[in-house]
Amino acid sequence: MEFLLKAHKVEVSPYKAINQLTDKWEKYVHEVTRLLIGSICKSLGIRELKKAHEDAPLVFKGRIQYNPKTGKPIKEAAWRKLEESIIKYLGIEKNLIQRKMINDSFWLGTLINRLADEQKRIGTPLSRFDIDNPDFIGYNYKDYGLDRIIVEKRLAGIYIQNITERARAKVQTIIVNGTREKKPKYRLFQDLWDQEEDINRDWDRVVRTEVAAGTNNGLMISMLRTSEEDHIFVKGISSPDACPYCIRLLADKIFVLLEEGPADGGDKVKIDGNEYTAIWSGKSNYGRKPVNYWACFPLHPYGRCTFTEWYLELEKYFEKD
Ligand SMILES: [Zn+2]
Repeated sequence: MEFLLKAHKVEVSPYKAINQLTDKWEKYVHEVTRLLIGSICKSLGIRELKKAHEDAPLVFKGRIQYNPKTGKPIKEAAWRKLEESIIKYLGIEKNLIQRKMINDSFWLGTLINRLADEQKRIGTPLSRFDIDNPDFIGYNYKDYGLDRIIVEKRLAGIYIQNITERARAKVQTIIVNGTREKKPKYRLFQDLWDQEEDINRDWDRVVRTEVAAGTNNGLMISMLRTSEEDHIFVKGISSPDACPYCIRLLADKIFVLLEEGPADGGDKVKIDGNEYTAIWSGKSNYGRKPVNYWACFPLHPYGRCTFTEWYLELEKYFEKD
C-alpha cells in the first residue's frame, strides 16, 4: 500500500495549469507548516530557525528549565501561547484553504472547458487564467453546480481537519515526551522540525487530491452547461506515468457524463442499445479498496487523470487494437 501511494504521487496532470495550481497550493501549505513549527518553537522559547539540523545543537547548549515542583518545562502562559499558535496556524488557515483551494480548482476546471481543444492539451500556463475572480453564476452554474462546490468544500474541510488534528497530536506528544525525558532544548527543537516533512506529506495528499477533484468537477459541471449534445461523451486522458489502475480504468476510455449517478446505484447506462460507464460530479472511490475501484476522476488519492469531451463519430478514425 505504501508503494502504491508512492507510485500515485508521481502522476502529473495532462493539463499544465492544473499542475501549476497544485504547486501553488503545496507551496502555500508548506509555508503554513513552517510558520506553525516556527511559532511553536518561539512560544517554547527555543530559537526560531528554518531548519533545526543545521546549527541548532551548537546554539543550544543549555537545558530546559524545569519547574522542580511540577516537572513542567514551561509556564502556563507559555502553554497558552503555544495553544494560540496551533489554533492560529491550523484553525484559521483551514477555513481559508478549504474555501479558496476548492473555488480555485472548480474555476480552473470551468475555464479549461472554455478553451479550445488544442489549448487544453498544450501547456497553458496558470497565469493565462484569472482564477482570483470566480464568476460561477456568470458561467452558467446553477443550484446543482453551486451545491457541488459547497459539498467539496465541506469534504476538503474534513480532510484538512484530520491533518490539523494529527499535527496537533504530534506536536503535543513531542512536547510531553520532551518534558518526561527532560530533553535539552535543541533536541526538542529538532524533534519539532523533524515533523515538518510528515505534516507536509499529509497536506500534499489533500492538496493534490482536492485540486484534481475540484478541477475535474468544474470541467464536468461546465460541460453539462455548455455542451449541445443529447448525450455527452468524454474520453479519459492520463499522463504516461499514470499507475496501472488509471491506465486500466481511465486512459483512453469512453464514458458518458451524467448530472448524477443512475438510480440503481451502479454506473452503467444504456444508450442506443450500447452500454456505457457513466461518470458524474461527486463520483469517487472514497472508502473503496483498490480492487473495487470504479472509474472516476480522480481515481485515487494523488490521482491526476482527467478527460475531454468526445464524439463517438470520431472513434472510426482510431485504429482498434
Ligand atoms: Zn493512478
